[in-house]
Amino acid sequence: MLKKNDEIIVSVDGMTSEGNGVGRFEGMAVFIPFSAVGDVLKVHITKVQKTFAYGIIKEIITPSPDRIEADCPVFGKCGGCSFRHISYDAELSIKENIVKDAFKRIGKLDVPFEGILGCEERNFYRNKAQYPVAEIDGKAVCGFYSKRSHRVVPFVSCKLQPSVFEEILNFILSYINQNKIPAYDESAGKGILRHIYIRQGYHSKEVMVCFVVFKDIKARLLPLAEMICEKFSDVKSVVMNVNPMNTNVILGDKTEILLGSEEIFDLMCGNKIKLSPQSFYQINTAQAEKLYGIVRDYAELSGKETVMDLYCGAGTIGLSLAKNAAQIIGVEVIPEAIENAKENASENGISNAQFICGDAADIAQELARNGHAPDIIIVDPPRKGCEKETLDAILQMNPKKIIMVSCNSATAARDCAYLCESGYIPIKGRAVDLFPATEHVETVVLMSMVK
Ligand code: SAH
Repeated sequence: MLKKNDEIIVSVDGMTSEGNGVGRFEGMAVFIPFSAVGDVLKVHITKVQKTFAYGIIKEIITPSPDRIEADCPVFGKCGGCSFRHISYDAELSIKENIVKDAFKRIGKLDVPFEGILGCEERNFYRNKAQYPVAEIDGKAVCGFYSKRSHRVVPFVSCKLQPSVFEEILNFILSYINQNKIPAYDESAGKGILRHIYIRQGYHSKEVMVCFVVFKDIKARLLPLAEMICEKFSDVKSVVMNVNPMNTNVILGDKTEILLGSEEIFDLMCGNKIKLSPQSFYQINTAQAEKLYGIVRDYAELSGKETVMDLYCGAGTIGLSLAKNAAQIIGVEVIPEAIENAKENASENGISNAQFICGDAADIAQELARNGHAPDIIIVDPPRKGCEKETLDAILQMNPKKIIMVSCNSATAARDCAYLCESGYIPIKGRAVDLFPATEHVETVVLMSMVK
């Protein structure tokens, strides 16, 4: 029997949706992070369960042909990337398989998949980063949490973000160390500066810097805000968000302007989009535009359709379709996002879109009861997928087409299967890589009502 601390030789022959390689040892599945299909490895076993075990690589005996030199000094230490050690082609093929496999195994659906749409830029694609601040040896540092922990791995040169983020961070770190602004210490509940949150419009290049603090230190941050705006001309907004809670949630309720405006703007599918610190916004703009383009292709709008956009965030999908539809109805639970969606519609001269704030299940049920019958329903739920009530309400509204967009192919497959048990058939689908180097992948599936 396999035991903790055993050292074994394993060949990796598959990948899990968490991005771990998997091999077999005496009938047990062994999950090994940062391995690659084709690796032969000496593995140190760290955890043993009934039918599976976890291990870490002790030695690469034969490397997989997919392997490349990882180009980041903290790869494997910080919790960000899962795939910097294999080629992008290999990564795309893993992600395509994860999506196809979910629909086959979990959904028991035969979806004609049109492959995976890779991202042109494997690095520098994120438009947002939230860096935790910590104190190490009496000095403020920032970086990223290591996987499943709140230990900060100090590192500002992350390749996933635009390089201006690193310049701004270094500038801030040197200021806060000189001026002794203390980092917040989560375990002791002491200190002040929790996170430095930076966001940049992909097309506009406008930058927002947000200091997340345990308590209001506006007076101490004002001179820094001025210096940031002076040095970095793209910074249009410096704000302070106060989060006095002992919580994992990064942002608190109160945001105050330090300098510039409260929001920045970006363009998304040609629409001007207003972004406040709280607004949900796809973190890879260029690739999100392509994702929305696929939704537009699948929708095949003639201009006469009513389109319902459930889980609409700041309305970006619906607004990108508004010119080609008769009416857009967006539904979203976060009030600020709905405010953004309404403002985004009027800012772009879109008058055929309406946005409703509330739980998708409640609103969809209400709309169904009131006899709403949209031609197309688009759903883009969070990772946990749709509630059964939401799916039932969708079925009751009986749209000709349903387009599922999801960042979790497992729950997407489950929800599509439910819809397909009640009169829909999967027409086509595509995986879209919005998150290169991580294990995450987006899925779009078109379902059509059986005539
Ligand atoms: N379609 C948007 C947002 C997708 S993310 C875009 O592409 O930008 C999923 C969204 O679902 C988030 O905005 C989240 O706030 C919202 N959400 C989560 N649970 C919800 C619920 N129960 N009802 C309605 N919206 C919900």
